[in-house]
Amino acid sequence: MGESTKYEARLLTICQVGHPVLRQEARTLSKEEIQSDWIQALIASMKKTMKSVPGVGLAAPQVGLPLQIAVIEDRIEYTNHVPQEKSDERQRTSFADPIVIINPTFTVIGETEVEFSEGCLSLDGFEALVPRAHKIRVDYQDETANSQTLEAEGWYARILQHEIDHLRGIMYIDRMATRSFMSSKNKSYWYFHSSSDLSRLLGTNSRAVKEY
Ligand code: ZN
Repeated sequence: MGESTKYEARLLTICQVGHPVLRQEARTLSKEEIQSDWIQALIASMKKTMKSVPGVGLAAPQVGLPLQIAVIEDRIEYTNHVPQEKSDERQRTSFADPIVIINPTFTVIGETEVEFSEGCLSLDGFEALVPRAHKIRVDYQDETANSQTLEAEGWYARILQHEIDHLRGIMYIDRMATRSFMSSKNKSYWYFHSSSDLSRLLGTNSRAVKEY
């Protein structure tokens, strides 16, 4: 195994909603597959693609491959208590190398659920409030196939849940507060409202699907 930089990273095309790959269960990878040149090159290309968009997470189904791999921006320290415009600022100025999660499973820690605005590279130009668990534990394999565990909360936990959903064929529109769905341009109408204000003003206490 060499440095991941030995693999030539390419910019990949991101599939948009309606592509069947976004609705299928992605398959797990063996240790040998994870360590193969093919998967290492794919990971390098996924990192490059995510940074170029820019995005904070990208799952393999989003680039057309039903495999349980996601890359996620690391060291996102802000939480749901930070005003959203500040979070947006910080997310665009973070240059940490993304973490790679392969064959992940997660467990919810505690009972706190939070609603916050979310978008998706595969649903370009839209966003909605999505309720998610505030804190989770994720078991996964890293890009060298070693088993890892991490605990995450707030925005970081949200991104992890969003990307792991992609590996199960689930998109945020399946979980969103449906009345909060909007084009990103129209977010300017709600700019000065917090997520909880937005939820109250739009009457978004119900969502399309409550349980999985
Ligand atoms: Zn997404």
